[in-house]
Amino acid sequence: MSLTVLMNAGPWLPVPPPGYGGIENVVATLVPELRRLGVRVVLASTADSTLPVDELLSVFPDGQFGALQRPYNQVCGISHAHLNGVVRALRERDDIDLVHDHVEAVGLAVLTAMGPGAGPALHTLHWDLGKHPDLYGYVDGGDRVRVNGVSASQLARAPQALRDHSVGHVHLATPLAVDADLRPPVEKSDHLVIMGRITPGKGQHLGARLAHQAGFDLVLAGPVGPYRRPEDLAAAGPEAGQNPDVRYWREQVAPLVDGVRVRWVGMVAGAARDDLVASARATLFPLCWEEPGGTAVIESLAVGTPVVAIGRGCLPELIEHGRTGLLSDDEDGLADLVPEASGLDERECRQEAARRFTPATMAQRYVDLYEQVRRAAVAS
Ligand code: UDP
Repeated sequence: MSLTVLMNAGPWLPVPPPGYGGIENVVATLVPELRRLGVRVVLASTADSTLPVDELLSVFPDGQFGALQRPYNQVCGISHAHLNGVVRALRERDDIDLVHDHVEAVGLAVLTAMGPGAGPALHTLHWDLGKHPDLYGYVDGGDRVRVNGVSASQLARAPQALRDHSVGHVHLATPLAVDADLRPPVEKSDHLVIMGRITPGKGQHLGARLAHQAGFDLVLAGPVGPYRRPEDLAAAGPEAGQNPDVRYWREQVAPLVDGVRVRWVGMVAGAARDDLVASARATLFPLCWEEPGGTAVIESLAVGTPVVAIGRGCLPELIEHGRTGLLSDDEDGLADLVPEASGLDERECRQEAARRFTPATMAQRYVDLYEQVRRAAVAS
């Protein structure tokens, strides 16, 4: 296949990211499989990205994640500088067949504004759009700009203007799913894990409260805003509380973290992350938002750890209640489910991941969508 895709991963983290990184992880999982299928990939990211690609475009030398806590206009400035670089490349060269954009509303707006002369674009939605309808309300790229969701539930909650441009959804994938069904089981400890950014939507405060009430050990893994290690956050001054996730941590989570029943290990990466999840009795998702894609959910399945969750957002699409996990309607129901998790068969989780969530499955779906988007652009 001769197809060159400009993959825009944004300026916030390199690809692959050092540990946490939602969009960047998705891109790092997708690109190698696309290239195996013969797609040429030009990656727009930061210069410290190490993912093998055909070409790397960058404006910033390294990930600007730390700047996300700066004032809004500075954050926008970084975003726009990166997108200017992308737009310049699209103007100056004629070898790009399609843009696959992952940069939230701003990326989509820029692609839309480039007008009918620009090439076709597919924008992957990564957030819960029910919460941000205004940001996306103005999309109008005709048939040239299309969007896809990362779950059916995410798309169903999206503003009508987006759904009018939708080409459907593609579930996320994880390299851990490859041959997951062939790996031997990992010995389980008794702890549960919450893997993810410490942020109100992920519900770490509910999980910690539950651990104390129901009497199970809980490990919280993930960054708090820009702080990746407990000692860095401990050293941060009161002004760090301007970041809403730091405020959430200080006010609602930290008082429940006693270092015994509930521990926070900071951000974990690579094999340490996989081992922590694989050795857990279950991963817990006490969600307080409509989870859009749930990478950490499918990673848990792939390492053979059942998921116990409030069944919000994409969870019912990813987890089969009673087989690969347990879903409740609310916080109270969650407490009752925790003891049942050890009755689930971890092989079912690994088989499900190998069947549904491999990078090859995701990449094939995207190649099909690229064709669909290009055909629609030609026809319009
Ligand atoms: N993650 C990680 N280390 C951490 C916390 C999270 O590597 O300490 C990874 C996690 O394994 C997953 C990604 O960050 O691959 C989070 O993606 P998810 O879709 O679960 O959450 P979101 O994109 O909403 O933050």
